[in-house]
Parts: sequence; structure tokens; C-alpha cells
Amino acid sequence: MSKEYVTVIGLEVHAELNTQSKIYCSCKNSFGAEVNTQCCPVCMGMPGTLPTLNEQVVASAVKMGYALNCTINPVSKQDRKNYFYPDLPKAYQISQFDIPLCENGYVDIWVDGKEKRIGVTRIHIEEDAGKLIHDNSFAGSLVDFNRCGVPLIEIVSEPDLRSSKEAKAYLDTIKSIVQYIDVSDAKMQEGSIRCDINVSVMEKGSDTFGTRVEMKNVNTFSGAVRAIEYEAARQIAILEQGGTIEQETRRWDDQKGQNFLLRSKEDAHDYRYFPEPDLQTIVLEESYLSQIKDSIPELPNKKFVRYLTDYDLPEDDASLLVASVEKSTFFETMVAFGDVKPKSISNWILGDISRIMNETGKALADLEIDAKGLDALLLMIDENKISNSAGKTVFEEMLKTKASPEEIVKEKGLLQISNSDAL
Ligand SMILES: [Zn+2]
Repeated sequence: MSKEYVTVIGLEVHAELNTQSKIYCSCKNSFGAEVNTQCCPVCMGMPGTLPTLNEQVVASAVKMGYALNCTINPVSKQDRKNYFYPDLPKAYQISQFDIPLCENGYVDIWVDGKEKRIGVTRIHIEEDAGKLIHDNSFAGSLVDFNRCGVPLIEIVSEPDLRSSKEAKAYLDTIKSIVQYIDVSDAKMQEGSIRCDINVSVMEKGSDTFGTRVEMKNVNTFSGAVRAIEYEAARQIAILEQGGTIEQETRRWDDQKGQNFLLRSKEDAHDYRYFPEPDLQTIVLEESYLSQIKDSIPELPNKKFVRYLTDYDLPEDDASLLVASVEKSTFFETMVAFGDVKPKSISNWILGDISRIMNETGKALADLEIDAKGLDALLLMIDENKISNSAGKTVFEEMLKTKASPEEIVKEKGLLQISNSDAL
């Protein structure tokens, strides 16, 4: 009989920061420009050039550190990670090794109806590499250096995740947080958020982790789910046949649904890390740190749980509202009046209001909804003074004419007579 196994997963998420310029030069940090038009001698790694750290990169990383409950190191340094690859013109990447900006944090994720806390080992800043382009019309590889020096934060989790489902929930949470605090646009299709995945398996009941295998450059969250399931099954099959797992790095091919050996065992010393001599130590004042700490809004994962517990909303409603800052803000404005059930308000925002936003392509603010007027309208529906379908007509009229719901109901004779004596 085959044994039961537990999958152990740790994730390294790379998020490109949405700063105006790159991390060590003044080149523009934007996606989609013509190849090799956004680079300079600094980000191309020409001899004799010197990097200058973009302060905004530090601010964004610290912000993320506070959002993930990390300790922020007031003194940290930058290091060279040496490796040779054609998309890296300097043949080293400036990163952070032993003293990252942020350490020892956590994030709460929501899985199967409850919260689970996932440890965050560290968050550090580093520069992105260029991009290799493979084209059938050309026998070799082409290089686009525009991405060289694009600022990244790498968020490393503890090996606390136990299934592909938990990994997906973690990734979704990280993505929504970087968007909420506005440090990255997290557009997966543009590669601005991607991850490396560490997977190992151990027998159920064991407390000793198995040998881990790293999968590089998984570009979509659904791909991450497939990659984890594939790799766990591959390792279990090897163990079941009496084999052993080798520590190695594998490349996930989402189209083939398989991974392939990239290189065998690699450790930190293979990168010959050493302190970057061209950059100063990063020293952060206490007042600077507390200013950033105070700027962190309520985060989407916390807001989600609050909507479930305080307003008794179903998970789907809560996650849809929380996913949009403007919808959740409007929802809370309406709830604060205290007149209508939160679920009725949620139904309107996710129903008619969202539909009108889609149809008109307008943001919620641009619809100029009179919140107090909508509150009065929903109250009339709740009290059966008008029907739900009449309510929709009144709402559309309110948007058009800016008249009050009472006026529209009177004018259109929509009042529903539910009093049997009156009838
Ligand atoms: Zn540059």
C-alpha cells in the first residue's frame, strides 16, 4: 500500500515596483517600449559607470515590509550576486544578501473557510535582468535590455504552505496587497509579478522536510498550481519506487505541463555574494520609518475577514468588494448610514452599479452616485414601498437627472400599495 504524503511549499515572489525610474539610473521604468530604447550605460553595466539608489524603491519595499508585519532593519546593505547569463550585462545582479531591508514577518491568508498564518522570511530589493527574445526567423537569441535595472522586491515565504490551493491563496493575497498599497501594478501578463517555487514532500506524520526542488520563473498563478501538483506527484513517484530526491533547479513548462532539469544542487556560495562597493549602506531614520508605517491602509486580507464577521457577507461578496478599493469604500459609506442590511447594499454594488460601470466604462466615482439618495431608495425597497424592479428604474433615473428617489417615485407613480386597508 502506498504511503500518504504531505507537500511542503515555499514561495519567492518577485514583484516589479511601479516607480517612475529604474533602481540605479534615471532610465524610465515602464513596460512595452520598443526594445533597447530604455537603457543607459549604467543599466547596461558599462565599465566605469556608478549606480545611484532610487529612494522610492526603498520606500516601497519598506511599505511592503510593514504590510507583511516585518521587522525593518534600520541599517541594511546591498550585495553583488554573481552569475553569468546573456541577459545580465554586468555579470552580477545587485541584490541584498545577509541584511535585507525587511525580515521576520507574516501574512494571513484565507483557505477553506478559515485564516492561516504564513511566515515571511524576508523582503529585499534587487534589480531585474534583461529579457532574451527567441524568434524563429533568427537562429540565435536576441536580448532586450529595457528590463535591466527595473526595481524588484523579492518576498520570500517560510515553507508553511501545504497545498497548491494554499499557495494560490497566498499568491492572490500578496498580489492584492501590493496593489492596495500601490507599490506594484502586479500585472501578470506583463511579467510584473512572478514566482520561484520550492517544493518537497514528506511522509504524513513526519516532521522532517524532504529534499526540496526549486522551480524557476513561473509566470501565472494558475501555472503555479499546476507546477506544484506536477512536482509533488513526480517526487512521490520517485520515493514510491525507492529512489531519492536530488536537490536541483527545474524549469516549469506550462504548455507541456511538465518540468525539466535546469541545473543540479546550487547554494548561496555558488553566487560569490559580496558587498556592493559602489553603493552606500542604507540607513533609515526612525521618523522616516514611522511615517511609512502610518501610511499603510487596512489591507484587503484583513478587510475580507472583517466583512465576513462584521457584516455577515458571503465569501464571494466580500472578496469582490474588497478587490476594488472604490467599491469597498462606497460599501462602507452606505453601511455607515445604518439603515439598510449590508447584504442588500452589497447586492446593489455588485449587481446594478457594477453592471452600469461595465456598460459605461466609468469608474464608480464618475457615476456621481448620491449615497444618501441611494440609501433612501434601498430603504423604500426594504420597506416594500416600491418593488425591486421599480427600484432599478428609479436608480437609473437618479443617475440621469440627479433627482431624489422620492421625487422620481412620486412623479412616475411607482409607489406600491401594500397596506391591505388602503387596498
Ligand atoms: Zn539606465
